[in-house]
Amino acid sequence: MDLYEYQGRDVFEKHGLPVLGGGVAATPEEARAIAERLGTSVVVKAQVKVGGRGKAGGVKLAATPAEAYDRATDILGMDIKGHTVHNVMLAETADIAEEYYFSYLLDRANRTFLCIASVAGGMEIEQVAHEAPEKVVKRPIDATVGVTPEIAREIVAQAQFPAEIADQVEQIAVDLWKTFVAEDATLVEVNPLAKTTGGKVLCLDAKVTLDENAGFRHPDHEALEDKSAVDPLEQAAKAKDLNYVKLDGEVGIIGNGAGLVMSTLDVVAYAGADKNVKPANFLDIGGGASAEVMANGLEIVLSDPAVRSVFVNVFGGITACDAVANGIISALELLKQRGEAVTKPLVVRLDGNNAEEGRRILDEANHPLIQRVDTMDGAAQRAADLAAVGA
Ligand code: GDP
Ligand code: MN
Repeated sequence: MDLYEYQGRDVFEKHGLPVLGGGVAATPEEARAIAERLGTSVVVKAQVKVGGRGKAGGVKLAATPAEAYDRATDILGMDIKGHTVHNVMLAETADIAEEYYFSYLLDRANRTFLCIASVAGGMEIEQVAHEAPEKVVKRPIDATVGVTPEIAREIVAQAQFPAEIADQVEQIAVDLWKTFVAEDATLVEVNPLAKTTGGKVLCLDAKVTLDENAGFRHPDHEALEDKSAVDPLEQAAKAKDLNYVKLDGEVGIIGNGAGLVMSTLDVVAYAGADKNVKPANFLDIGGGASAEVMANGLEIVLSDPAVRSVFVNVFGGITACDAVANGIISALELLKQRGEAVTKPLVVRLDGNNAEEGRRILDEANHPLIQRVDTMDGAAQRAADLAAVGA
């Protein structure tokens, strides 16, 4: 889960990192009130989960509360790389002398954690790494050792932070690592880490990604989730304990088990490639899914207006195929009773435990929207063809 900057700033503050006072506002009036409370000139910053806000005009200075009102008016509602600005963060301004970069992240490829540090901050680190790779220090961090003061000193020396601020950056390096571990983050990025004209080092931006798998250890993290930004269907699925993910194609996909669902995505993408048809979403009803779960799943996938056909790919295991077949038929009945009669074709492939019986039930039901195809490739092709026709 990616946090907004204002949430990241709060996390940094909680762990003693040097940040400036601030607040978040959804209206120009709120922005003005925060500026009044801070009592200084302020920076007004668009809160969107995408970088490059500065360049896009989403970061503006305001000398007075009235100006903060005006800048908030400008920035709220702005579109930054496809993200609408619903909130602005206001923070005390800093007189920046120099901008640096500092981050810790989970380096999956190398199965370790990584520290990236550079005295060339402010801009995108990928760009710095491309143009001046010698200015970017990358150092693996051993999870069992962490960032000791000695290691922090080495990083700071290697990245050639100015001597007069080395102590401050070392302390930040140690505290930022503590933050990373304590919050179960997979990324903490400070860009810019800035030196003020007064020689103080401050975290002026905060990018934090939390590991949702560790959510059970952090009851406070749930409140950080931006419910409004989540796809409403994803939310509905979550409430029913279903794993649903929205994609941008036309074929709805339901399967049981993550492995089967992933390969179904590939097969559908392949089958639809020449027609420009792609998976619209996918929903994993799990290994031991009941008929009722199938009904819930179908309802969610069919509610997606982009869906033109649905591919139900089930390998019967704990739940046998006959139960799944009955589940599909009762789900269609249920939706009809609710006045949400299904109009999109369903391609069903059943295999595994009790497949024969499941197929027989489907044939017997003779539902006009259900098409039975017994191979995975064949079913994917049929679903893709139907989606292309429905275009
Ligand atoms: P990003 O572009 O989305 O990464 O947003 P940042 O928070 O990094 O802000 C972009 C730039 O705005 C920074 O690199 C700074 O140059 C500038 N900036 C941010 N906060 C302040 C501030 O308090 N004072 C001044 N003078 N500039 C700031
Ligand atoms: Mn930044």
